[in-house]
This record gives sequence, C-alpha cells and structure tokens, in this order.
Amino acid sequence: MDETTNKPCWICGAPSDSREHIFKKSDFVRRYGNLPFKHIGGMLHFKNRKCRNVPSPKSKIASYDPIICSNCNNNKSQPWDRAYEIFEKWIFANSQLIFDNRFIPLELVYDDETYTYQCPNLYKYFVKAFGCRLASIDFPVPKDLVSLLDEEYFQTGLRLCFSINRTTFAMLPNDRDNLLGVGDLYRIDSKSKGVMERYSWFIDIGWLRIWFFYLDEVPCGLGAHWTSDSACLYLGEFESATLDELIEGAKNENAPILAHLENLKQNGGIKIK
Ligand SMILES: [Zn+2]
Repeated sequence: MDETTNKPCWICGAPSDSREHIFKKSDFVRRYGNLPFKHIGGMLHFKNRKCRNVPSPKSKIASYDPIICSNCNNNKSQPWDRAYEIFEKWIFANSQLIFDNRFIPLELVYDDETYTYQCPNLYKYFVKAFGCRLASIDFPVPKDLVSLLDEEYFQTGLRLCFSINRTTFAMLPNDRDNLLGVGDLYRIDSKSKGVMERYSWFIDIGWLRIWFFYLDEVPCGLGAHWTSDSACLYLGEFESATLDELIEGAKNENAPILAHLENLKQNGGIKIK
C-alpha cells in the first residue's frame, strides 16, 4: 500500500496505512457534498477571537496522515463509528427536545438497541477521535485509552462534556446544524513536573460542542462529565463569542449576516431554540 508509513498504528501497533477523517465522512458528505464550505458559518468559526475560514472537506485539515491501520479503521472501530452515527442523527432530529430538557437520553437515542452496549461504543468513538488527534502530532496516546478499546469495563482519565454553544444560535438554523469545527489541542504541563499527559480539546458538530479533558480539570458549566458510565448526558452551555463580537466581526468582513445579527440584538439577543 502506497500510504504505508513507518508510524505504527496507535491502536494495535501494525504499520499505519489508513487515513482517518477528523470528522466522520458521512458528516461531511451529508452536510456539504464535496463543496468547499468556507461560506457556511465561516465567520462564526472563531479561534482566539479571530475569524477563520472553515476548511473544505478535501483539505488536509479534514483528514490525518496515516496513524492507524486499515483493520483498526475499518473493522475494529466499526461498532464505535456506528454508535456515533446513530447518536449524531438522533441529536439533530430531536434538537428541540434537547433544548427543552438539556439532556440527551441515550436510552432513547439507541431505542431498542441495548444502550449499555452502545454507551461504551460511543465513548470509544470519541477515544478514537482524540487518540488520532494526539497521534497526528506525534504525541503518545495515553496507555489507558489504548487498552480500554479492548475492554468492556474500564477506568479512564478521559472525561467528555457535552455543551450547547449559544453563539451558534446567532446563525440561521441550517447553517448552525452544518457547522463543523475542531479546537486547538492544549497540553497542560507543570512547572515542577515538566511535560505531562494532561490535555484539553474539543470538536463542534452544529450547536453541540464535545469537550475532551484528559486528566485535566473540567470547568464549571460545560455539562456533567461522562466516561460512558451513564445513560444520560447532561448538557452545559457556553458562548464561543458574544453577539457584540459577532457584530464587530461581521462589520469588519462586510458580511451579509450583519443585518440578521443586529436584528437579533434589538430583539433581546441570542436565544436557544
Ligand atoms: Zn491497528
């Protein structure tokens, strides 16, 4: 295989020969086809308070260089990918229910499938996403995360939080659901202990932000942390940018959304609905 590299697969140790997409390919294809999506929500994709364009699904940012083998990417992780696909579909089909209740009942998400079986699969999907992010920049994936992929019951240093991003409600509903984003990965080292395996990261899927905290403190308000141990995801809430910042950005970029944003401001600001 021409894409075989010397890097071993971070999951099983075999030679890596498979490109993992940062987002599921189905997310991209369903939302964007193969078009670049600079125009979709780009101005709301804030990084360090600066506007950034969202990359196209074909751009290098959309997939990692090979860091896992095709067996892990296609076979081993198949149940994890499937658990995520069901989860993601359900969320955007039932958004209003989630906004009203502020939790995601995994029993309903997985319906007649056993959620006790699907919860760990969903968690492992996010472990894979996080592990690929680390491996892509040659950071070692913490051992507990690699070994839990083979376990039914496990202990883990990775806590996930699920939050509603208020800022996305300044967007039109279709644009909001179509937003995909990846946060910067932070490693939190220690003055006395030096380099540490402590990380934080996030991904954005529409209005939902999924936070990753590895051996790091979970800030208040981002939702109850989850390690696949519960069938209910209690959501937090935050703003990635204020309405005033969005308006300022739209003014600077001469963006057509400016009128919509100013209208929002006159009518009491951003509302989650
Ligand atoms: Zn492998």
